[in-house]
Amino acid sequence: MGLLLKLALLGVALYAAWKTLSRWKGLYDRFVGPPPKPQMPERPAAPPPAPPTAAARQPVIEETVPCRVCGAYLSSGATKCSRPDCPLP
Ligand SMILES: [Zn+2]
Repeated sequence: MGLLLKLALLGVALYAAWKTLSRWKGLYDRFVGPPPKPQMPERPAAPPPAPPTAAARQPVIEETVPCRVCGAYLSSGATKCSRPDCPLP
């Protein structure tokens, strides 16, 4: 057996093995799915802005109502204001 023939047979065998592996890999990917991609590195720039809190968005005005008589702002649950010059008791 000549050396050239051995090399040719080896090449054919390697080619056949490679084609077989490729076909199996294709079947595997088709039924199982592609291999998971490597995780992208965390980008340090542009972190998501923190949502503003309810207190930051709406100040105290939301929960206050003006006094019916003197106009002083007081809590919506209070029945009378705490101003000393308020005509209400
Ligand atoms: Zn008042």
